[in-house]
Amino acid sequence: MARSISYVTGSQLLSIKSRPNIAIIDVRDDERSYDGHIAGSLHFASDTFSDKISNLVQQVKGKDTLVFHCALSQGDSNEVLGAEYMRCNFGKSRNKDEGVVRFDDQEIQIVRGPTCARRLVNYLEEMKEDTGIKNIMVLERGFNGWEASGRPVCRCTDVPCKAESA
Ligand SMILES: [Zn+2]
Repeated sequence: MARSISYVTGSQLLSIKSRPNIAIIDVRDDERSYDGHIAGSLHFASDTFSDKISNLVQQVKGKDTLVFHCALSQGDSNEVLGAEYMRCNFGKSRNKDEGVVRFDDQEIQIVRGPTCARRLVNYLEEMKEDTGIKNIMVLERGFNGWEASGRPVCRCTDVPCKAESA
């Protein structure tokens, strides 16, 4: 049961986000605390995402659609694999003497959304247990695109955000 990752635009997300079966997962790191967030979104920072992945699966029980985003949520699957490779082999620091490394910190930053979505897909495949999660999506243009289009931003400091997705 291979799951694929699809993209959702901001306007599509706006029209479906109030459905009870959807969870929005923000994987930005520190930016969430000063840039605001999409109301009702969960926060699983990319830095610690892999450690908390089972916790995430628990928290989204009953949801069948997960929408991931970071600040920009860019990158096709090749870029995601490249970033993943970087993380696994080199941590977050780019070693300029390593000719094989294609991604620097900034490039990793913009693919966090798709990278974490991919990690969840891999995790679910290994788990081989039906979690009820059917759709894994990435928000196109990420939080920055969402905000730039004038869509609603929640600036509460509650963890987790208690705002209803409206
Ligand atoms: Zn909030």
